[in-house]
Amino acid sequence: MLDSGMHPKNTGDDALPNLKAIADREIKAILISHAHQDHIGTLPLLMRRFPAARVFMTEATAEIGSVLLHNSVNVMTRQREEIGEMSYPLFTHRETDRASERWRWCPLRQRISITGERAPQRERGLLTFEFFEAGHVLGSTGILLRAEGNSVFYTGDVNFDDQTIMQAAVFPEEKIDVLIMECTRGDHAKPSGWTRPGEERRFAEALERAFDRGAGVLIPVFALGKTQEMLALLYKLRRASRKISGEFPIYIGGLSSKMTDIYDRRAHMARRQLPRLQLMREAAPFILNDETIRDTPLRAGRAYVLSSGMMIPNTLSNIFARRLIEMPEHAIFFVGYASPESPAGLLRDAGKGGEVALAPTKPPQRIRCQIEQFQFSAHATRESLIDYAKRIAPRKIILVHGDPPAVEWMRATLSAELSGSEVIVPAPGLEIEL
Ligand SMILES: [Zn+2]
Ligand SMILES: [Zn+2]
Repeated sequence: MLDSGMHPKNTGDDALPNLKAIADREIKAILISHAHQDHIGTLPLLMRRFPAARVFMTEATAEIGSVLLHNSVNVMTRQREEIGEMSYPLFTHRETDRASERWRWCPLRQRISITGERAPQRERGLLTFEFFEAGHVLGSTGILLRAEGNSVFYTGDVNFDDQTIMQAAVFPEEKIDVLIMECTRGDHAKPSGWTRPGEERRFAEALERAFDRGAGVLIPVFALGKTQEMLALLYKLRRASRKISGEFPIYIGGLSSKMTDIYDRRAHMARRQLPRLQLMREAAPFILNDETIRDTPLRAGRAYVLSSGMMIPNTLSNIFARRLIEMPEHAIFFVGYASPESPAGLLRDAGKGGEVALAPTKPPQRIRCQIEQFQFSAHATRESLIDYAKRIAPRKIILVHGDPPAVEWMRATLSAELSGSEVIVPAPGLEIEL
């Protein structure tokens, strides 16, 4: 099994992987690409179903994954009450602890057999895997499977560009037979002239203008990855900008702070930018939780870097946005991916002057605050994904992890540009001959 995620917006059975499709199979190994909810969120459940399966991931993914899954138990326990989902929590804190004790930590760039031993270079017939750095979030990997002279490479979530902390992916350039590729950004062309440093400048100017005008700025982020990227970026701006008043306060959520601690502890071990930067000490964010969020002052000149990134109901960013969106002096800066049906997507697309209901139980609100969108995605541009596929020129390409228009653009483009490759958009539950 490659990854064992939970759907970030659906609940109950709709949020689970299609386990029926593998009910009568023996699962020998589960390989986890990284610790985002949509890749690791149902792992304890899967391990219960397949107790003999060995589970492999990087050490950083294991450390972050354990924090994330414990948090998920708390979220599901709350949801049991709030939305009456009686199957929740899908697993307990105890089961999460027991599961994580069985995870095996794997180094990058080492061939390992799925029985867990370090594999010799040229042992045919042995199924092996190897983790490659994916440049997406701390611990993230692409996974190369080899057996009987054939190879399958799964990109996981990847970024081929440097971010503020994360350095770009280092993926295999060898012959690969089957490429399983993410398509998150397939429906957006890279804006002409976009560069990350240019976008950082645009962000800095917008933040200065907002603060000058008396705005507090909400920045919805994922707890893992985007929070740490934004803390590093805001830290850089504080130091570099003469205009932004030196030490403007930054707020983050409790889960984000635990993830940030892990980034700090692992700063010297990871291949990263700003390797000596300790975010918790030097960006020094204030930590909010479910209770304190409600009466945290909403003031000018403060940055509220809150999860979730898609502003799922009952998360800090959603609660805070409901307080803020009708106030014209304040602002929301979007910095990453939000699916169009998510509250963040609805708010972004409705824009200033529009109306949005940020939670099903809450009345619609008029959007009066400033809305800005910046492109700091942790995912590869579609152009860089196409370039990679062309360099590899695999026999088959299987497209995953994208909204339908994104997958369709990738399918059409790859089919046109790579005549030797069969491009497959897999239907859930259907078997494909590799
Ligand atoms: Zn991810
Ligand atoms: Zn993902």
